[in-house]
Amino acid sequence: MALYITSLNSGSNGNCYYLANEDDAILVDAGLNCRETEKRLARLGLSMTKVRAIFISHEHSDHIHGLPVIARKYQLPVYITPGTMHGGRLTLQEDLVRTFKAHEYIAIGELRITAFPKLHDASEPHSFIVSCREVNVGVFTDIGFPCENLIRYFKLCHAAFLEANYDDDMLERGRYPYFLKNRIRGGKGHLSNKQALGLFTGCKPSYMSHLLLSHLSRDNNSPDLVLDLFKRCAGDTEVVVASRDRETEVYYIKEVESGLRAEDGNPIVIGLKVESGPDNKERTEAPAMIVPAQEQVQYRFFREETYRVISYTL
Ligand SMILES: [Zn+2]
Ligand SMILES: [Zn+2]
Repeated sequence: MALYITSLNSGSNGNCYYLANEDDAILVDAGLNCRETEKRLARLGLSMTKVRAIFISHEHSDHIHGLPVIARKYQLPVYITPGTMHGGRLTLQEDLVRTFKAHEYIAIGELRITAFPKLHDASEPHSFIVSCREVNVGVFTDIGFPCENLIRYFKLCHAAFLEANYDDDMLERGRYPYFLKNRIRGGKGHLSNKQALGLFTGCKPSYMSHLLLSHLSRDNNSPDLVLDLFKRCAGDTEVVVASRDRETEVYYIKEVESGLRAEDGNPIVIGLKVESGPDNKERTEAPAMIVPAQEQVQYRFFREETYRVISYTL
């Protein structure tokens, strides 16, 4: 099972992230109004009918602007902390309000959503990691500093929406008043390009297939500049910018790792998963599908204390 992900909008003008498997979907944040949310989903061939719940990261209006109408219209449960409800002065239909605890997952069908606290100037700000079977996708925006929690969860992600809010020099030289500059870079504001790049290059797992640079500042950043910065260090990870104006395409995040290379240095296209087991014992099962011997390579590797034998076709 894989995850389908898209950003419907990302930035201080509105945030809404859609994550789904074959059967169910959730939204992380609802910063676009209802009509715009529906319109952008429709352009991607998606719809609200598959959405089962909304998870709210914090109470800033770019994350909750469309929430009351969307939740009411589709009668969706809203996972939100009491502090965020209070801070956002939200009035939601009482029987739709749910809460969550950090590091404990909520199950929505086969999706598992785990929240963890982040550093941001809001009441009870949280980031989310969404999993299906063994695929993990993080939604990491509005972060003042890459804390231990973020580092730990980032290391598990097959894909991530990662904030790259500002370029240090552009912010320093820009027109913002001094107090606002300090709010942004003061440890409880937003992640700079440099901080995000440090996290990416230092903690990116080998199997991370997609990085969606998110919540870019309109005034203090440039999509071309940040994309260029990251692409130089991206290896086999596809890096894209989640736009402030429109939806991204839908990205398909697969279970097995890519990025391994054959002996001749060419990238390996994953062909077939043969076996995976929860123990640490070596296994040598035959491939489940016969492929010509010269096209078949077996790799063994350790990840999260689980030993797997996976076969790839070249
Ligand atoms: Zn925001
Ligand atoms: Zn915020």
